[in-house]
Amino acid sequence: MPARLTPLKRSPKGRKTGKARPEADPRRRLALVIDLLEQHLGVPVWDGPKDPLEILVLTILSQNTTDPNALRAYRALAAALPAEGPVSRDARALPVAADGTVDKVKLRLSDAAKAVEPPAWERVAALTRTELAAIIRPAGLPDAKAGAILALLAWLRETTGSYSLAKALQQLGTARGVEALGAIKGIGAKTIAVTMIEALGADLCPVDTHVHRIINRLGITDTGSNRDRTYTLLRDLVPPGKGFSLHHNLLTLGRTVCTAKSPRCGACVLRALCPSAEAGFG
Ligand code: SF4
Repeated sequence: MPARLTPLKRSPKGRKTGKARPEADPRRRLALVIDLLEQHLGVPVWDGPKDPLEILVLTILSQNTTDPNALRAYRALAAALPAEGPVSRDARALPVAADGTVDKVKLRLSDAAKAVEPPAWERVAALTRTELAAIIRPAGLPDAKAGAILALLAWLRETTGSYSLAKALQQLGTARGVEALGAIKGIGAKTIAVTMIEALGADLCPVDTHVHRIINRLGITDTGSNRDRTYTLLRDLVPPGKGFSLHHNLLTLGRTVCTAKSPRCGACVLRALCPSAEAGFG
């Protein structure tokens, strides 16, 4: 069945009990979702440019795992192959939980890029796939991720004569650069979109596992397991200037309330808008 936007089906039960009626139009419902999340969780704001290669490698490492695992793998890589030169990063950029460990809810990949001195990319590029996989093992899927990182570095070297993604994007233009990145095995639409919003401030809402799950539970899209389809549909629905805020607030909601296995609908600020709240969750 093709993926589609879903007009909300309201239950007669909901009307009888006098519950607030969820907004039926997906575009207007999404606008309400953005407003409610911003009221309750705040308005996440992009904090300025970062090195796109660092964000892209961190995002590759974060595929199918948690951000803390991606951070562990990135730190291992930076420690194994340190770059020469003055230290410019600040470990205090990482959010800290009450027990002194990295705060798993607040951690973002951009924090890792601000806190961890990057590795010497020319030394990473000189590794074999097996050697790189052994270093980044804490992120899981090490062979596939090592392959993607080495292919990326080889492409950069070919395109720019250096290991600068910023230079490649400048040289090719963003649209052609994005197309070329998408042709590298292991670098998909979500990975590129995360790089674009975190490093360059693009107005996009990348669709990771949390965003995909929640947007579908909210009935704004009905895309099964097709995350790329969710991304395409959402791109046309998110109001201008709201991509960053929506992405980050859905990440927070997905890590705390609307979790994959046990969503706590009773504690959810989106409950009145959400058809899944009446479907047995919470
Ligand atoms: S009401 Fe429940 S299913 Fe809907 S967004 Fe909130 S936690 Fe998720």
